[in-house]
Order: sequence, then C-alpha cells, then structure tokens
Amino acid sequence: MTQASVGVFFVVGGNLIFHAVPVEQGEPYGDTVGFSGHYDYWQALVPHNATEQQFKNHPYDYFPRGRVVYFKKSGEFRLYADCCMKKSDIEKVKEIFQLSAYRLARDEHYQCAGCNLEYVDNFLPGEE
Ligand SMILES: [Zn+2]
Repeated sequence: MTQASVGVFFVVGGNLIFHAVPVEQGEPYGDTVGFSGHYDYWQALVPHNATEQQFKNHPYDYFPRGRVVYFKKSGEFRLYADCCMKKSDIEKVKEIFQLSAYRLARDEHYQCAGCNLEYVDNFLPGEE
C-alpha cells in the first residue's frame, strides 16, 4: 500500500524542494484534494541547507514549480508542472509523491523566471 501524496514542489538547481502530505490528510476543495501553497511555503521556510538557502534568496516564483492534486470523482492524480521541467525532474516528483499513475498537466500559473518573459531579475535559474 503506497501513501500517494498531494502538495507543492520546486526544482532548485536539480534538487526537489517539496511540501506534501498523504492524500487523506490533504485539503479538500470541491472535487479536488490539494495541500499547501507555493508562496506560503516559501515564506515560512527557514533554510537548513544550501539548496533551501538558494531557494530563499529569490522570490517564491523564481524557480520552476508545480503541484500534485487529487481528483475525487475520477480518482486521478494530476501533476501540474512548469513547462521547462525536465522528464527526470518529473520522475523525481512521481517518486517522492508516490504516484503510481498520474496525468501530466501544464498550468500557465506555474512559470519560473526562465519561462516568464516579463520576469525581472538579474539571473535565470541554472545560471548560478
Ligand atoms: Zn520555467
């Protein structure tokens, strides 16, 4: 029995930072169950390692990010991801969230500094 989870994640320098709980402990919203928020998690995080420090050194929407949501009626997990996320990163999300099956979806809300042309910052993710 696996503990498939819902929550949010970020890809920071090839590492995954995530905030997840098993789906039964998630937050119901209509037909969906999700957990946490990108901004809230970023704001509350106290960095304990170099990756988390790098994450905190930039605005919350700087790094590629996404979310795993459970849909109750269809019994399906949807993995929303920034379109620049590599297949290997998505595999990591699948492993950490223990998803045996999921549907990959793009969401224009999840755009990092590299994808959002209107983003104003000196560096792009991966350049540091
Ligand atoms: Zn991106």
